[in-house]
Amino acid sequence: MSKYQTVQITCPECETVFDVKKWDSVNVQINPEEKERMLSGDFFNHQCPECATISCILFTCLYHDMSSQLMVYLIPLEPGKDPSEALGMIENVSQLLDDPSADLLFFKDGYKHRVVFHREDLMEKIKINDEGLDDRVIEVLKLIMLHQLGEDVAPAKIEYFLFDTITGKREFTIFLDSGDIGQVDFPQDAYDKIETSFAQAIEAGTPKGFQFVDRKWAFEEVFQKVDSAD
Ligand SMILES: [Zn+2]
Repeated sequence: MSKYQTVQITCPECETVFDVKKWDSVNVQINPEEKERMLSGDFFNHQCPECATISCILFTCLYHDMSSQLMVYLIPLEPGKDPSEALGMIENVSQLLDDPSADLLFFKDGYKHRVVFHREDLMEKIKINDEGLDDRVIEVLKLIMLHQLGEDVAPAKIEYFLFDTITGKREFTIFLDSGDIGQVDFPQDAYDKIETSFAQAIEAGTPKGFQFVDRKWAFEEVFQKVDSAD
């Protein structure tokens, strides 16, 4: 099931109050058009009927792809808020999905449960999954690549480093805090090697239930544990 409510927002430009759909959950088999809107970014944009100003508002929303067994829970993180607080908000998945049996999916082998705080991260998780890739391997790969890229991009600071298929092939897009954007080829060989050599640590680092899988996770759950096991 998918589930939404109608809520009112106020246009920041002309103060018109208008209705928008606030999706609690999107099942992409039932609402494939909402998945497309998520990938284009439109899902988060709400246009004022009076002055056409677009407001980007993120709501807490659960993305559910039954066929590839993926749930991604977007919990918009307010500035200054501790991520662990947001993780405490994860509950009532069966209520969100309007399906009392949904909690059983937590115990189903092969089901992936992720939490993200930004829409870019949600979009990335969807793209990685659609490519049949493993986001955990990608996060380990990113750590290694960023380490290698470090000297090339210094002193510009990397804001985002995201898997992308926007040009029709697998690659990473780098957003620097200077505003510059660059592309790096996807190193398939390195991906394959990581998938094999870190398989055990990756599995151990993702117990059942919602997991926050990012570079910090890759460092703490994979690198540090492999290191200390040596
Ligand atoms: Zn307006």
